[in-house]
Amino acid sequence: FFITFEGCDGAGKTTVLNKVHHELEEQGYHVLKTREPGGIDIAEKIRTLILDPEHTAMERRTEALLYAAARRQHLTEKVIPALEKGIIVLCDRFIDSSLAYQGAARGIGVEEVLAINEFAVEDHMPDATIYLDIDPEEGLSRIHENKKREFNRLDQEHLDFHHNVYQAYETLAERFPERIHKVDAALPMEEVQHQAVHLILNVLSS
Ligand code: C5P
Ligand code: MG
Repeated sequence: FFITFEGCDGAGKTTVLNKVHHELEEQGYHVLKTREPGGIDIAEKIRTLILDPEHTAMERRTEALLYAAARRQHLTEKVIPALEKGIIVLCDRFIDSSLAYQGAARGIGVEEVLAINEFAVEDHMPDATIYLDIDPEEGLSRIHENKKREFNRLDQEHLDFHHNVYQAYETLAERFPERIHKVDAALPMEEVQHQAVHLILNVLSS
């Protein structure tokens, strides 16, 4: 099973994913956790390139293509081989991030970005996606409180940008209700984690 975690910056994706990983391992499942952009050497290098705060000249379609390239390499080098061994893959962000950030918020268009991503992922879509629904303002304030987080190029974006990301996620959740499972990320973290684990166990037993 291939399970992805999505949501605005500061939604708690990484924290929830770590908890789900721990819980599933406790229950005896073989689980791999990974992230996008990144997860393997080539894609981590692309991540550094994209997120470098000095790369303000990066044009939006260039950015979208780099995300898709990083996705392709991560998918073929790490995700697919794990899935073929029967390992459950938990991935922090995937295609929906590109649709929301590059497609909607950067204004390229969701369908255009979907097209290049279909080229990149072929039919390797997630079996399920946990969408952590957080008000973008609340997400950003969580990030500012988290001093461990490194500064990146996206941190220069205005609230409008993050509102557009949020709206896009909401639209995607309506468009793909079978795949995308929404969790209220404003709930206490323990409750969010509990709901995510519950949803995923349901998917695994289906
Ligand atoms: O989720 P993570 O914090 O690793 O993402 C790093 C940065 O990249 C975030 O600021 C996120 O908004 C941005 N990003 C993006 N487009 C994507 C994926 C991530 O702008 N497709
Ligand atoms: Mg994170």
